[in-house]
Amino acid sequence: MKQLLILSGKGGTGKTTVASAFIKLSNCKSFADCDVDAPNLHLVMSENMEPVINDFYGFQKAFIDNSKCINCGLCEENCHFGAIRNFEVSVYECEGCGVCCEICPQNAVSMTEYASGSLKLYKSQNKVFSTAKLKMGSGASGKLVTAVKKQLLKEAHNSELVIIDGSPGIGCPVIASISGANLVLIVTEPTVSGIHDMKRIIKTAKQFGTACIVCINKFDVEMDNTKKIEAYCNEIQIPVVGRIPFDNTVIKAVNNFKSIDEYQDSKAAKAIKTIWNTIYENYLLSK
Ligand code: SF4
Ligand code: SF4
Repeated sequence: MKQLLILSGKGGTGKTTVASAFIKLSNCKSFADCDVDAPNLHLVMSENMEPVINDFYGFQKAFIDNSKCINCGLCEENCHFGAIRNFEVSVYECEGCGVCCEICPQNAVSMTEYASGSLKLYKSQNKVFSTAKLKMGSGASGKLVTAVKKQLLKEAHNSELVIIDGSPGIGCPVIASISGANLVLIVTEPTVSGIHDMKRIIKTAKQFGTACIVCINKFDVEMDNTKKIEAYCNEIQIPVVGRIPFDNTVIKAVNNFKSIDEYQDSKAAKAIKTIWNTIYENYLLSK
């Protein structure tokens, strides 16, 4: 089984457009959306299947038992996250560090499991799609990403290829999604921040020893930066596997909850198909 992970520095770079097209083009049977803060692959790929939904308990939050509390204020004073006010804990601010629990002279504080998100599994006779949604301000997104992948891999044991739409950024959820991946495709765009983010993702993937390739979305919007990306990648020997032109059809596809692959005559769909063939032949077909 090979795991292809698709990443980008931030949301809106075209990661999900590329991921959904690859899933369709490869007729992939096992795939996941690890963008747990803002998942949207299901809008295109759930194909009217109903998911099985389970609460995800990856985090603890403090809880104050007011019947034991003597209002000494020690917990509020010592909470570095400002999560306690008027002897009540805000679940949005509590980081689960447990300091209040340790410090309370009355044993009035306990740490309780908190449902910080929901795991969703779409499953049909021949397809499995794992995704999740983190509750706003819950933290623990890395843990939820790990749970999404675990849920997928448990069901995907007969699949030769697994495609994962990763999380944007470079933080904890990205590290969780890189773990176990065979190949990372970075979708970047020719902007200063796009180049900066790409470099950071390459650095992270290198730390894990994971092979990286790059494709440039909307490459024709700023050709100077496109050339800079290609020069940089050439210098550090990271293959640039293709360029996708700016194409309004992508916006149309997103608005219609469709994969760009369904607009086969569009410039973007043609470019993505070429990129897919390049990746398949050069990186996935091999032993
Ligand atoms: S430390 Fe304990 S007793 Fe003091 S205010 Fe907090 S919960 Fe109440
Ligand atoms: S567990 Fe930590 S963050 Fe949460 S309320 Fe207690 S001291 Fe604050």
